[in-house]
Amino acid sequence: MEPKDLTKNQGFKGFTNTDCPFLPCHPGVKREFNCLFCYCPLIAYECPGPYEVFTDANGVTRKDCSACTLPHDGYQASWAFIQKWLAKPVVWDGHPQQERYLRKARRTPEQSSGSTEAES
Ligand code: SF4
Repeated sequence: MEPKDLTKNQGFKGFTNTDCPFLPCHPGVKREFNCLFCYCPLIAYECPGPYEVFTDANGVTRKDCSACTLPHDGYQASWAFIQKWLAKPVVWDGHPQQERYLRKARRTPEQSSGSTEAES
């Protein structure tokens, strides 16, 4: 096995499961669809995704991530996004998403071009 720091093979950063009956599960992905983060590592942490909050059958507050493309939009981009937000994870306390992130998610691709706000 090659050391991760030395390999030029980027295959660990993502893949598309074309056999999955739910693909494409999140509309709006523009790059390669990355299935690696099907179960998003940020589900229990603060994140910039456009989640909605709901209460499950056990009374637990959870995120509904149906409208989020951030962990899926491109192998390289989604890998970098997840690594950045996991570098200093902050546990999510169940609050609704902040309006500034929801506004960003509602922007058209033309309005968002060149912006990296969701990644910071
Ligand atoms: S809103 Fe997006 S980034 Fe946040 S936990 Fe859900 S899928 Fe992950």
